Amino acid sequence: MLNQLTLTELVARLARREVSSREATQACLDQIQRVDGQIRAFISYDAADAMAQAEAADKALASGQTHAQRPLLGVPIAIKDVIAAKGQPLNCGSKILGNFISPYDATVVEKLKAAGAIVFGRLNMDEFAMGSSTENSAFQVTHNPWDLSRIPGGSSGGSAAAVVADECIAALGSDTGGSIRQPAALCGCVGLKPSYGRVSRYGLVAFASSLDQIGCFGKQVRDAAIVLKAISGVDHRDSTSVPQPVPDYPAALTGDIKGLRLGLPKEYGLGSPGSAGVSPASAGGLDPEVKQAVEVALKHLQNLGAEIVEISLPHTDYAIATYYIIATAEASANLARFDGIRYGARVAGADPIELYSKTRGAGFGAEVKRRIILGTYVLSSGYYDAYYLRAQKVRTLIRQDFLSAFEKVDAIICPTSPTAAFKIGEKADDPLQMYLMDIFTISVNLAGICGISIPCGFTAWPKLPIGLQLLGKPFGEETILRVAHAYEQSTPWHKEKPPLAS
Ligand code: GLN
Repeated sequence: MLNQLTLTELVARLARREVSSREATQACLDQIQRVDGQIRAFISYDAADAMAQAEAADKALASGQTHAQRPLLGVPIAIKDVIAAKGQPLNCGSKILGNFISPYDATVVEKLKAAGAIVFGRLNMDEFAMGSSTENSAFQVTHNPWDLSRIPGGSSGGSAAAVVADECIAALGSDTGGSIRQPAALCGCVGLKPSYGRVSRYGLVAFASSLDQIGCFGKQVRDAAIVLKAISGVDHRDSTSVPQPVPDYPAALTGDIKGLRLGLPKEYGLGSPGSAGVSPASAGGLDPEVKQAVEVALKHLQNLGAEIVEISLPHTDYAIATYYIIATAEASANLARFDGIRYGARVAGADPIELYSKTRGAGFGAEVKRRIILGTYVLSSGYYDAYYLRAQKVRTLIRQDFLSAFEKVDAIICPTSPTAAFKIGEKADDPLQMYLMDIFTISVNLAGICGISIPCGFTAWPKLPIGLQLLGKPFGEETILRVAHAYEQSTPWHKEKPPLAS
């Protein structure tokens, strides 16, 4: 079925005119009809609009446009509900935006459309991207395609689940502390968080502006490379986007990683296969099956010619605390705009203060309120120096750890998530347990570097995907994509499908 194709395969078949974009798009819509009642990855989608876009793509193909000119021509790509697409709903997984419709396209959406993609659907997420399980959505809980009683990861759980259940060919998400990589790991697909500044954030609703980055989900590494190339680049509407040329990412996938040096952080509690390994506090929650899968992957990468070098990231233990100060501080400022006056839902009040508090009280969920309160607290006078300023200093140390490591190695290797997917509801009442899920992903955002998660095995029973994470220097996406691709192409994991998808 066409919805099961990788992006790379679909492009090849569209280019040969063996299939039409209409057929491919219809196949995705049929799959949504078939499985999304159980998965619940989509908050909404407009089938007629998707088919109209597909028809336009088919016309463009018939008129002689090629994929060399428009690399995504005819490919259905779905979007996390935090990225603006003109004329489509934009809710950020929240009730507070009411019936808001985006009046404009985010830069990434503009770029996807220019590359010919069918941009359709609003994918479920934790409210304002705050969470690690997609249980914090105000709309619905998304279910993991491998086991419907489990979470898909978060906050981009809808994006990962939709790709893995073959409801779309690829998807966009956002990653502030792991929200692309962690759900990719837990659902079993590829998730790429680009370096800070690689992709424009214009049209991404801000959670924590110094950490947020848009990235993509794909069924295989080459698909992610193609989408990354399409969405990257400087944008005058986002002053933090960097005027660094966009490399030809798919061309970096040579299959050859001989002589590349891969760093293994000694603080992460991993060793060579079979070794006891160290197990410091930060790695205390590392599941033995995840540890083993990553250690076997290390050995495999060595067999492919990479050299494994021990490195140190000495400030690892401070990452979660640092993140939850900086991210909440920025969130408290960014979410001040949702006041019932300018956007979305409004609950009337006798005066503006009452209107604000009633609107925000009714519109935001518990986790968002917790973050706003925490963030307001760490920014308040008297606490600013003790928390916020100190966290900014530790952030610099964490970045320095990575930059010194990258003087010795080309990429860093570690698990994506300390455990496989947990049960829906299992951690819902314990925010600290939930925050610990981010131990291997969060420092990447603090440091502004890039990271990718790829499948590296399964737990024995129940059978759940395990993710391997590769971290690269700022603007080092080509290297991590190359390593990820070489690993993927020489292992069977990416070919496995959850029973429900087929
Ligand atoms: N799980 C982290 C949080 O809850 C990261 C979320 C994200 O990357 N958007 O903040």
